[in-house]
Amino acid sequence: GAFKALGIQENVLQAIGKLGYKLPTPIQRKAIPIIHSGRDVIAMARTGSGKTAAFLIPLIEKLESHSNTVGVRGIVISPTRDLALQTFKFTKQLAKYTTLTIAAIVGGENMNEQFDALSKNPDILIATPGRLLHHLVETKMQLKRVEMIVFDEADQLFDLGFAAQLDAIIARLPSGNQQKAQTVLCSATLSSSVQEFLSKDGVVSRDNVE
Ligand code: AMP
Repeated sequence: GAFKALGIQENVLQAIGKLGYKLPTPIQRKAIPIIHSGRDVIAMARTGSGKTAAFLIPLIEKLESHSNTVGVRGIVISPTRDLALQTFKFTKQLAKYTTLTIAAIVGGENMNEQFDALSKNPDILIATPGRLLHHLVETKMQLKRVEMIVFDEADQLFDLGFAAQLDAIIARLPSGNQQKAQTVLCSATLSSSVQEFLSKDGVVSRDNVE
């Protein structure tokens, strides 16, 4: 099928089949091959476009392809607790036939349960910015092994006032001679705060897609 034509691995194709998707949406058709290539992506995409699977599918594939590294390797930043929990559930569905472990780090939930979840070294974190930063400040958790970070609904992230928290999170990503984390940013609009964020050093490099 058409998902297969995008070069998606068998264990993820199986999960896509279980969700009942027949064909990739336009954003999936455009973004997945570019994310596969390792380039950074700016996706102008709204809710309903299939944007979430467009970044989750290649994120899961990238991490599953060499799953013996310990430490957080993938992060999805969501503006709200509801979106983060929905994305968490979706990530578990799409990663169902992989070895990857996933944790949700969101505000308003029990901190101790999150400390426990983090102590098990999940591969992927689905997080809201404030709570993720809180854990980074309070614990020894490092982000130096992160291979991909997704900023979902970036315009919302800035409208809700998370700019400083995002800067603090980015400052903890691999830098210097470490391999830069591949960055995917999804936004319905390219607001001035999103553009300012994208112009910062170490956020995105090279390509982007509409
Ligand atoms: P999103 O834009 O990521 O919020 O996705 C909107 C809805 O479309 C969600 O309910 C997804 O489960 C669904 N969806 C995503 N990709 C596909 C696809 N290729 N075929 C059918 N439904 C999809």
